[in-house]
Parts: sequence; C-alpha cells; structure tokens
Amino acid sequence: MSKYHCKCGGLILPDFDSFKVGDEVNCMLETRKPIGNGLVSINQKAFIGKIIDISGDEFSIKSENKIYEFNRGEFSPIDAPGPIEYFRIGKCRCELDQEKSNG
Ligand SMILES: [Zn+2]
Repeated sequence: MSKYHCKCGGLILPDFDSFKVGDEVNCMLETRKPIGNGLVSINQKAFIGKIIDISGDEFSIKSENKIYEFNRGEFSPIDAPGPIEYFRIGKCRCELDQEKSNG
C-alpha cells in the first residue's frame, strides 16, 4: 500500500502545488472519436513526461520529442498513481464524508 492508497479504497490526491521544472510526472492523453449512432470511443493513453515549463496553472510537459500542454491537476507525480488510476479507482472521499457528517 502506498501513501496514496487510502483505507476507504480511494486514492489520495498528490500535492498539486509542489511541481517544479524538471519533475517527471504521470500524464494521460484522452482522445474521443465518434463511432456512429451518437456513440463516442474514448481512448486513454498513459505516458511519463518531464515538466519543462510552468506558467501559472499551465504546464508544458515533454515526452519523447513532443511537448504537451496540461493544466494543474491533469497529471500526477511519478511516485503517485497515474491519472487513469484516479479515473478508474476514484478519489479518496474521506474529507468530503467528514464535512458531511460534521455539517
Ligand atoms: Zn479515504
């Protein structure tokens, strides 16, 4: 169990404020393709990239010879689960549940 796996079964979000240039990160590209009858095929591809530029909440991330633009929160640190896992397993809801029971 890593520090990102919570007892509730969800995944704990990484610290999105701690990224800096040169960090390696887990990224996910999502492509949507219409396949007819109003259906859309969603293809998710995970890859590892390196932050080469940060301006506010916009990040330039280089992987192989391509540069991708991502917003803060769309990728995770190299030691954290990738965005696809957050998408599939779901985020930790402990804090939300706590707020609910307190309020
Ligand atoms: Zn939790």
